Amino acid sequence: MKSIAILTSGGDAPGMNAAIRATARSAYEMGVKAYGVQEGYKGLMEGKFIELSPREVGGILQRGGTFLGSARSPEFKEEEGRLRAIHQMEKAGIGGLVVIGGNGSQTGAKTLTDMGFPVMGVASTIDNDLVGSDITLGVDTALNVALESIDRLKVTAMSHHRAFIVEVMGRDCGYLALMAAIAGGAEAVAIPEVDTDPETIAFLLHEGWDRGKRNGIVVVAEGAKYDAEALMAWFKENKTNVGFELRAVTLGHVQRGGAPTAFDRIMGSELGARAAQELVRGNKGQLVGKIGGKIRLTPLAEVAGITKGPDLELLKLAGALAL
Ligand code: ADP
Repeated sequence: MKSIAILTSGGDAPGMNAAIRATARSAYEMGVKAYGVQEGYKGLMEGKFIELSPREVGGILQRGGTFLGSARSPEFKEEEGRLRAIHQMEKAGIGGLVVIGGNGSQTGAKTLTDMGFPVMGVASTIDNDLVGSDITLGVDTALNVALESIDRLKVTAMSHHRAFIVEVMGRDCGYLALMAAIAGGAEAVAIPEVDTDPETIAFLLHEGWDRGKRNGIVVVAEGAKYDAEALMAWFKENKTNVGFELRAVTLGHVQRGGAPTAFDRIMGSELGARAAQELVRGNKGQLVGKIGGKIRLTPLAEVAGITKGPDLELLKLAGALAL
């Protein structure tokens, strides 16, 4: 294999740049040229390749997001789109591809592998819903950003005897919300995996107020049955008194933009380097992730289209510690 390509796809995640840098430099070390694909699968179909020499990937390690750009591309879901992508890579002499991204992106990677083109995936999404990695690249930074906001909201909540309903990202997965609730010391948490009705949240807040708490945090996942907006609307409609004055904050994309933590820089470096090595050695159709603290390869066929949720035992812990 003389050349490989690297793309980032789907939602951007802090640490993607570390993975790009590691993939490109490891390829170089093995005497293989690396190309970056701009704007994910969309750019792949359009042949948007840029050469990534070791110098070209300098200065990106500490930056959040992905310097290659990302995109969502419905055309790539069609066979015709994927044939175009393969044609572009063959025309450029590219013999393998590293896909850095989440569930949708790895599903795309599997379809390319099924069509005979060698692909290795790198598990990267802030949602942490991918099978094949206990924790995915970007989660640690996103969690720390959410936590910093929660800590700050607690300070102002204390001054005004308020409770904040804080909505965090995670799509249909409650991992980020649950971990932010535990690490942020929340009074209540609502995640998509468990139906939590507003009455329960009102009860928990009121109980806390009665026990003498003068600041409250409710973490809700964006995919929960009641998101922050719906929850606030419910409280308004029902004129429910929970003691605290209520406010809602949606953290949204702020969570994505943080500079990658040391954990994500190291994880991105490890996974990216391994993906390049495996691809150049002739391996394909695998997701590179971390299981039990070790780098592990999982067939993309066991990853694509399957999602995992958080350990629900931790929900009990969050409840028990909210006393
Ligand atoms: P993420 O990778 O963060 O989960 P998406 O779910 O948006 O993000 O997927 C990113 C891209 O992966 C999509 O825009 C599409 O181009 C590609 N993709 C997703 N699902 C499939 C599929 N079933 N077949 C082929 N490509 C897919």
